[in-house]
Amino acid sequence: MNSASMHPSDTNVGMMLVISAPSGTGKSTLIRRLTTEFNAFTFSVSCTTRAPRPGEVDGREYHFLTREEFLRRREEKYFAEWAEVHGNLYGTPRQTTMDLLALGRDVIFDIDVQGARQIKSNMGQGCYVFVFPPSRDALEKRLTGRGTDSEETIIRRLAAARHEIADSQWFDHWVINDELDSAYQELRAIYLAEKTRPAYRASWQAALSRQWGVS
Ligand code: 5GP
Repeated sequence: MNSASMHPSDTNVGMMLVISAPSGTGKSTLIRRLTTEFNAFTFSVSCTTRAPRPGEVDGREYHFLTREEFLRRREEKYFAEWAEVHGNLYGTPRQTTMDLLALGRDVIFDIDVQGARQIKSNMGQGCYVFVFPPSRDALEKRLTGRGTDSEETIIRRLAAARHEIADSQWFDHWVINDELDSAYQELRAIYLAEKTRPAYRASWQAALSRQWGVS
């Protein structure tokens, strides 16, 4: 990267894009599309005490930990935030996030509303997006159709969805995942617009100074 140029891709401060949504809303699909299209992104791999679902790989979707190991790391302040979701513990490794941002990577988070709030107050930065299901009925159908969770789990997830929606007012952006393509276009637009903030254009400062004599 030429430190004295002003190319749109010349950024050396990574941004945090935090996405929250009730489970079953399709946020993993949206996140996968974004990280596939933009390779500046690194997905923040959380730690969890829940068991892996079929197809999930340790270190890719999550770092799967025992409860004891999770609690030990929590004690050591290893997490930037942590929360108990549907009876399992989830946490975001702090140092990994800091390292990635310092390298200029954009970091994308898939965390619940309580965690998103903590990240915002602990890290003091980031762009916060809440994704809604099209309706309560549609969410129930999606959760049932996924076939990975028991009826009891689905009931618990619907109750949790209500809580999360009740706490969605403070997010920067709202997206409804009714039709995947249009939801994706909105998310993509949010990301691109966010990236134009001067805070993420630190490498342009040298060019402004050299070309215009301003700092
Ligand atoms: P799942 O078990 O279905 O993968 O995720 C359940 C919920 O936990 C989702 O709402 C997801 O966003 C949230 N979650 C995943 N990782 C983290 C994390 O590191 N911290 C917090 N607070 N929530 C997380």
